[in-house]
Amino acid sequence: MAGNNLTQPIYEQVSKRNPGEVEFHQAVMEVLDSLGPVLQKHPEYVDAKILERIVEPERQIIFRVPWQDDKGNIHINRGFRFEFNSALGPYKGGLRFHPTVTASILKFLGFEQVFKNALTTLPMGGGKGGADFDPKGKSDNEVMRFCQSFMTELFRHVGPSTDIPAGDIGVGGREIGFMFGQYKRLCNEFTGVFTGKGLNWGGSFIRTEATGYGCVYFAEEMLKTRGENFEGKVCTVSGSGNVSQYTVEKLNQLGAKVVSLSDSNGTIYDPGGINDEKLAFVLDLKNVRRGRIREYAEQFGVEYLKGRRPWGIKCDCAFPSATQNEISGQDAKPLLKNGCYLVAEGANMPSTPEAIEQFIANKILFGPAKAANAGGVATSGLEMSQNSLRLSWTREEVEERLHNIMVSVHKQCYDAAEEYGQPGNLMMGANIAGFVKVADAMLGQGLV
Ligand code: NDP
Repeated sequence: MAGNNLTQPIYEQVSKRNPGEVEFHQAVMEVLDSLGPVLQKHPEYVDAKILERIVEPERQIIFRVPWQDDKGNIHINRGFRFEFNSALGPYKGGLRFHPTVTASILKFLGFEQVFKNALTTLPMGGGKGGADFDPKGKSDNEVMRFCQSFMTELFRHVGPSTDIPAGDIGVGGREIGFMFGQYKRLCNEFTGVFTGKGLNWGGSFIRTEATGYGCVYFAEEMLKTRGENFEGKVCTVSGSGNVSQYTVEKLNQLGAKVVSLSDSNGTIYDPGGINDEKLAFVLDLKNVRRGRIREYAEQFGVEYLKGRRPWGIKCDCAFPSATQNEISGQDAKPLLKNGCYLVAEGANMPSTPEAIEQFIANKILFGPAKAANAGGVATSGLEMSQNSLRLSWTREEVEERLHNIMVSVHKQCYDAAEEYGQPGNLMMGANIAGFVKVADAMLGQGLV
């Protein structure tokens, strides 16, 4: 691709400086691959070494998290925060608690977050953090002790105008509450240092729903470019956590039929559709009882595909909403063969490069994560605005703002793809539109 001679050495430097961090390399490669035409048009970015700077986090924090379980046994986890880029605002991005968390995973997420946040048009830089802690199977008290220990170190690095974490995999309302409580205690101040807070202590309406709703709004804009809507469309959704749950809810509202959900053990296939009543069962199962999706199949007498992902199920539209690299090149084949023509990424980097290659080659509607799932962080931005104003907008007002932001994110990606000669390629459009905003801000702020 044009411009590769400019980006290849940068990729090599990233690989050398971050050995073995394959997810981070993958995320960097995807962005660099899109930027050739931009660098040719803007030599000032090359001269100011914007790319070399943008791939290096501004600050990396790694720390020990000791905690005690209910039996008194001591455990040690590793905590992280990658403060990636603050050109557009304070660092903003979630915390992930999952045993697979490594520096590589969090750097890929933090890097993508920078461009995603730029696309929302709200004043937010990018960051990401978390720990290799597994909340699964832990009591509420164990999770609380872990969160308090995690925050006892992290509190000194974050703040409402410095770095504002939120949730991600394994970090929902319960964990945000425990961490916010500990921050308040240590700093002796009640400020908007987290987003995703409870509604009665500084949270925003729609934040819980935002990533799923936003992803569906983005997909609706993609369908509109072909004169279509969701009425009667058969959709597959993977995962069964926060993003998946509200993707299903919004798809139901728009007249689609969702036939799958999954977790790391398997997939349920419900050809009749996961209606609102069945979705209420999922919310209780996952958010209150913290059970497995297999129990849905037992409850409603549908098929359970043990150890499988949903991509073999026939559908019009697919919403990967669980985790990174969950659609491989092999998975993409049956998906496309069965007639799927829209993939909207609710999760971060759920499609491998081999899968994306097939989506682009087949000219299906492909909504890349940094655009399609930007609704979560956008609504976090709205939560920050409400905290600063010390007032709360109504549910309707927040949802309308979220909807408008998603329409605008789609337009920016669509227009950038057109401008740089790849009409319809929203992945390229998202990378370019996000990058240009951050690059211009970095140029304006001098060599920092
Ligand atoms: P949750 O923890 O609420 O749910 C995660 C879901 O994904 C669970 O069903 C989980 O199953 C499944 N999952 C996790 N790891 C794996 C794996 N290795 N293989 C198969 N399934 C897996 O997280 P969220 O819904 O918040 O996040 C889902 C995705 O969306 C992530 O990629 C996240 O980065 C992204 N995202 C989230 C945002 C948010 O606002 N929450 C914002 C933007 C993006 P199990 O219970 O078996 O682990």
